Amino acid sequence: MLSKILSKEDCAQCRFCCSFRRCSLWETPVFSSAEKLCLEKKYPEAKFKTCADKSFTIDIDDCYKSSDENEEAPCPFLDSSRGCVLSSEQKPFDCMIWPFRITKVNNELCVVLEKTCPVINKIPFEKVSSVVDEGFINLVKKKVEENSDIIKEWRENFVVIRKLF
Ligand code: SF4
Ligand code: SF4
Repeated sequence: MLSKILSKEDCAQCRFCCSFRRCSLWETPVFSSAEKLCLEKKYPEAKFKTCADKSFTIDIDDCYKSSDENEEAPCPFLDSSRGCVLSSEQKPFDCMIWPFRITKVNNELCVVLEKTCPVINKIPFEKVSSVVDEGFINLVKKKVEENSDIIKEWRENFVVIRKLF
């Protein structure tokens, strides 16, 4: 979805957003019940836990080896040589739109940019925000209607791109 600004090669070398510091576990991707059931059949070793109202996320709590808040643990769907093993149909919406996020600003739903992707941070803001076109917005609206659990809490490092409605 973001191929206009992010290449597979860039992400293959980086993989920053597929590992999670203990203090950043709020960022782990959200899965619907149907998505979780489907992935559990194919990847029985992947563990999930409930999150938000009716959704699930990866359970990597046992992967940390220390109590250091900055220790990172990888997503169970990250292969060290191939990157994410999920197909584009299997990939959770959070991962499809990263580093964009959906959040409420003054009670209005907005698309925001998470400013931690090292590649996106080097691209002019106008070019990055141009990805959020009508097609992107329509898809996000559909996904929010399907599962409001993809709406994140506001974070200080978010930059507002545009309102959703
Ligand atoms: S942080 Fe950015 S460059 Fe790195 S893997 Fe994620 S999307 Fe790709
Ligand atoms: S599901 Fe794939 S893209 Fe998403 S965090 Fe896990 S490895 Fe990365």
